[in-house]
Amino acid sequence: MRITTITNWAYGITVVLTVLSAVAFILSARSATQERQAVEQHLLLNSMGEELALGAEEMTDEARLYVMRGDARHLDAFTVDEGEERRRDTAINALRNLGIPDGELQVVEQVAANAEALDKIEGSAVASYTGGNQASARETLFGPEHERNQTALLNAVAQFRSLATARTEAAVRSAQARSDLWADVAKVMLALTAAIFLAVLYFILRRRVALPLVRMTGIVNRLAKQDYTVEVPNDRRGDEIGEMNDAIQIFRENGLERNRLDAERKRDLQTKDLILQMMHRLQACYAQNELAEVVALFVPRIFPGIAGCLYTMNESRSALSEVSRWLDPAHTETSFPASACWGLRRGRPHVSHVADNDISCQHLDEAGIPGLCVPLTALGEAIGLLYFEDRTKDATAVDAPQLYLELIAENIGLAIANLQLRDKLTSLAVRDALTGLFNRRSLDEALNTLHRDQSARTVVCMMIDIDHFKRFNDEFGHDAGDEVLRHVAQIVSDTVGDTGTAYRFGGEELTVIATDIADEEGFRLAEKLRTGVFTTPFSYRGRIVGPLSISVGVASSPISGPTTTLINRADGALLKAKLSGRNQTVAAFAMGTQEALKRG
Ligand code: GH3
Ligand code: MG
Ligand code: MG
Repeated sequence: MRITTITNWAYGITVVLTVLSAVAFILSARSATQERQAVEQHLLLNSMGEELALGAEEMTDEARLYVMRGDARHLDAFTVDEGEERRRDTAINALRNLGIPDGELQVVEQVAANAEALDKIEGSAVASYTGGNQASARETLFGPEHERNQTALLNAVAQFRSLATARTEAAVRSAQARSDLWADVAKVMLALTAAIFLAVLYFILRRRVALPLVRMTGIVNRLAKQDYTVEVPNDRRGDEIGEMNDAIQIFRENGLERNRLDAERKRDLQTKDLILQMMHRLQACYAQNELAEVVALFVPRIFPGIAGCLYTMNESRSALSEVSRWLDPAHTETSFPASACWGLRRGRPHVSHVADNDISCQHLDEAGIPGLCVPLTALGEAIGLLYFEDRTKDATAVDAPQLYLELIAENIGLAIANLQLRDKLTSLAVRDALTGLFNRRSLDEALNTLHRDQSARTVVCMMIDIDHFKRFNDEFGHDAGDEVLRHVAQIVSDTVGDTGTAYRFGGEELTVIATDIADEEGFRLAEKLRTGVFTTPFSYRGRIVGPLSISVGVASSPISGPTTTLINRADGALLKAKLSGRNQTVAAFAMGTQEALKRG
């Protein structure tokens, strides 16, 4: 029950009890007054009864003394003047006017009638005595007639006195009893009021207010110091203290929520900061392996405890292969066809293995670990995939904020696309589009670098020209010529391998530069190229064309000459090979006893 309700009830009861006790006191006082009045009436009637008794005998005594002694003094006392009232009559009249009950009034009237009858007897006796008949007068006053009347009068007086006494005494007793009763009631009420007041004081102030307030003060002090670990006990009372307790509970919960939000905001800021750092580094990457390293370093910091890997799409956009991984994801394959991933198929993040609510990707195993595939796209084309795996089975990765996932995926996708574009542009700048070999510009750069290189490394240069190339063009068309060029370039590139670098010098002429090899070795390589072209059959549109042949001129630096003249010297040797009948290798340097070797 609420404290105000208890207080109001206690207040109401106290007021009612106070009013009742006041009423009881008033009634008690009134009863005391009635008692006093009853006593007064009792005394008054008592004295009047006495007066009546004395008055009744006084006249008889005077009349008898007069007839006995003949003394005029007694006659005067017996005879009452006009306007004077006898003592007895005064008492009777006073009683009549007092408003006594009818029963008593009848007795008083009886007294008056008896007194009047007696007066008549005594008056005739006094008259007889005054007339000289003394014996008759005495006879009358002491005779049986007088005796009977007097006895009747005295009896009536006695009856009246006993009636009045009985009535007034009863009235006194009843007034006294009432007075005592109301006094007791008033005392009980007062005691009850005091008891209720004390009980309310103890219950409300000490148990319902003081003790809970002391407890709450401790809690509020700790909350003020931001100690939200303090426990606010559950207070089921629906009173004001209970409401205060609820308010403190809400205050604590608000504090906890604020702390949680602060921590979340801090985490959010840290995550954003990490994403920003990663974005800056991604933009500065020169190669895909650098990008893979940056992703493997930052993504596990952005999504702590979540394993994952980065896949890139192959050139034909048909399969994906893993380029980096973090925290060792164990339930996906390292390469798989693009069609095995629902994320890539749908072009949006896809969750596999969460309560089996959705279809699972085929590149995941059957372990049932929640996996999240986020496709990487750039300019509307899928170029890779980010895969997340949470081995704790609580699907944290799945719950990762969509915004961050999209942001990360978009940035990694763009970075990969940028790198691929850069690779393409670089390739376009340094390679020949038809043969795929490095172009003339690359050759010039390589020669300049070699020229600047002071370490005196050995360099072998081969100038290669396809023999009678024009005939292919003329006979089969330019496409066939292009095809021959590609064919020869492929053989040269494959044969040179890591030993050197093949360039398209221009037209149907190719150049090979090999460093750190001896002249003889260079010559052998040139011969290998020549025989390779000559012995590899070439078909165009189902027709064997050929055989193809090339002429090669070989020169070297630094012993035979500087790198600046390398091309000219090799070209000179090539010219010699052409002039010597083509399909030959001619060295511009001395080869033991041989100045040049010719093969045909
Ligand atoms: P030689 O044995 O003396 O080298 O005779 P050749 O026919 O190979 O030499 P020539 O200089 O007479 O002809 C070279 C021809 O190569 C001329 C040109 O039309 C052709 N050519 C140059 N570049 C290309 C190319 O990119 N594609 C095609 N199809 N032909 C080319
Ligand atoms: Mg030529
Ligand atoms: Mg030629």
